[in-house]
Amino acid sequence: MNNKLDQVVVITGASSGIGEATAHLLAKDGAKIVAVARRKSRLDQLVKDIEATGGQAIAVEADVTAFEDMQCAAETAKDTYGRLDVWVNNAGVMPLSPVEMNRIDEWNWMVDVNIKGVLNGVAAAQPLMRAQGSGQFVNISSVAGHLVFPGAAVYCATKFAVRAFGEGIRMESDGSIRVTNISPGAIKTELTDHISVAEVKEGVKTFTEIAIDADAVARAIHFAVAQPADVDINEVIIRPSKQT
Ligand code: NDP
Repeated sequence: MNNKLDQVVVITGASSGIGEATAHLLAKDGAKIVAVARRKSRLDQLVKDIEATGGQAIAVEADVTAFEDMQCAAETAKDTYGRLDVWVNNAGVMPLSPVEMNRIDEWNWMVDVNIKGVLNGVAAAQPLMRAQGSGQFVNISSVAGHLVFPGAAVYCATKFAVRAFGEGIRMESDGSIRVTNISPGAIKTELTDHISVAEVKEGVKTFTEIAIDADAVARAIHFAVAQPADVDINEVIIRPSKQT
């Protein structure tokens, strides 16, 4: 194995899609992974697969909406690997619907996971990073954090918020805390599974048909994480070539 990465990396939402692909790629290159999500059996399989190829990973069953769970993930990084270098705020949900449908429960769900989950992750990780004198947040926003689409108003609002919050951390940092925002376009994952409005689910097929593999995003995260301490990759947008 080519040990190019020497970081301890917490990844939320590591049980599928972008988080899972990122865990595999970074672990393959030497990073020690703390894999966080609610589906423990998926995380256990991920850890097994990483270990089978000579990598190191540990699973933490946790809900990003609970601050104590994020603290537990941060403590696991410190207790198991001695430090915490990178926190990837990746967990997210996208139950899209037009605003006029008033799907308040789904709005709250998106706000809780996509925004508060990121706040919880940062709150749990930053004391350790500040004590170490260095750290990096990689926040997964979206093309929907740059543009607003009909049917996606609340999702877009949450992804704009992720970018705004990340930029705020960066502006307040003396350089010891780096912040990378990654904005994917259509990626082949389980993200659309939770859409409960039939017409909306049908509508997103134009995106899912052109979607690219989660590895594309994992490679961008690897690029950002592999930079030397005096380089901060701030913003990456990754779309399928066919996405307008
Ligand atoms: P997936 O649905 O495949 O993965 C979502 C991950 O989030 C799962 O691992 C899930 O794990 C985790 N998750 C959801 N809710 C919680 C929670 N409350 N606590 C902890 N983990 C949670 O989708 P993607 O891989 O596509 O999504 C990853 C990120 O990428 C999201 O932030 C999404 O918004 C963003 N994104 C995705 C795009 C795409 O086209 N796929 C495009 C742009 C951005 P579990 O259910 O086990 O808890």
